Amino acid sequence: VRVRVLGAAAGGGFPQWNCACRGCMLARRGEATPRTQDSIAISADGDRWVLFNASPDVLRQIDATRELWPRRSRHSPIAAIVLTNGDVDHVAGLLSLRERQPLTIAATSRVFGGLFERNILLRTLQRFDGHLHWERLQLDEPIALAGLEITPIAAPGKTPVHLGGAAEPEDNIGVLVRGDQRSIAYVSAAGAIGELGTRVEGADALLFDGTFWSNDELSAQGVGQGTAASMAHLPISASLPLFEGFDGRRIYTHINNTNPILIERSPERRAVEAAGWQVAYDGMEVLP
Ligand SMILES: [Zn+2]
Repeated sequence: VRVRVLGAAAGGGFPQWNCACRGCMLARRGEATPRTQDSIAISADGDRWVLFNASPDVLRQIDATRELWPRRSRHSPIAAIVLTNGDVDHVAGLLSLRERQPLTIAATSRVFGGLFERNILLRTLQRFDGHLHWERLQLDEPIALAGLEITPIAAPGKTPVHLGGAAEPEDNIGVLVRGDQRSIAYVSAAGAIGELGTRVEGADALLFDGTFWSNDELSAQGVGQGTAASMAHLPISASLPLFEGFDGRRIYTHINNTNPILIERSPERRAVEAAGWQVAYDGMEVLP
C-alpha cells in the first residue's frame, strides 16, 4: 500500500494569503517549507487511488503528483474521495473536480447531507445519471474501496462552521485504512482522544491532528479569538505524550500556519521530534 501526503496544512494553507505571522513570512521568503491544505492519497495497487479529503488546493496537488495524472484523454486514477468531515478545507476541492467526471464520494450521512442537501452549489456534481456515487460511511463499519479496507472511527469533533448546530458523532471521523498487510490511521481533526488511543493500536502509521501547538495560539499571536478547544482540535502540547505506546510511525498533519512546529529549528519542532513524532510535508511517503 502506498500513502502519500498531498497537503499537510490546516485551513488557509502555509502561508495563508491574509496572514503575516512569523511562520507565514518565513514561508514566503523560502525559509520555511510551504504546505497546501490537508489531504492524503492512498493506493492498494499503485493504479487506483483514494483521496482522503478534497482540499481547496486539490488541482495543484494532483499536478504535483504524477500518480494522480490522467492516463487517457478523459480519465482519472482517483477512484473515490473519502470525506472525514464537512469543513471547507476538506470539501471545497470537490467543486474543482467537475468536467463531467463521475465521482465516488464516501462520507457519513451527516457530512453528505450537509454538502448535497443543504448546499445547492454542490449539485453541480450531480448533473447526469451516474455522475455522483455515494458510499455511505458508518462508524465502525468497514467498507471496501479500490482494494482498500476503510473503517471509520469516532473522533470527537464539531459541525462545519457554516452549518453550525450541535455536533453528532458522524460529523467528524477518523479512518483506519488497510491495504495488503499494512495499515494507517488518519485522524486529522480530533478535539479529544476518546477511544482513539486504543483504536489506532497496531497501525503501521498514525497521521494525527497537529493543527495547533497550544490552546491559545491564535489569541497569543493576535490573529484570532478562538481556542484550539473551541475548534475541536486537541493541541500538540496535550497530544504529544498520549500515543507513547504506539509502535508505528507517528506524524502530525493538518498543521495551522501559526503552529511553531512549521518553523524548523524552533524549540517546539525539536520537542515534537524528541518525542518521536514527525511533521508532515507535501509529498511525504508515509509507508516508504
Ligand atoms: Zn500565518
